[in-house]
Amino acid sequence: MTKVTLDLTCSVCGQHQFHLPVKAQEGANVCCANCTAFKCKTWDLEKALTAIQRRQATLSSIAA
Ligand SMILES: [Zn+2]
Repeated sequence: MTKVTLDLTCSVCGQHQFHLPVKAQEGANVCCANCTAFKCKTWDLEKALTAIQRRQATLSSIAA
């Protein structure tokens, strides 16, 4: 698992850090890094990460 900060809010404790699975055998569940509540599946997370990456690409193109 790897710990990351996302544009997602834990529905239990309200913070933004989550553990992500990095290996297939860790499954597809994303859980809160603080209270370990299950937040979502990586299917939803991929949409969130895509949005983050798109925004970062936009920012870097503005800076360039
Ligand atoms: Zn939480």
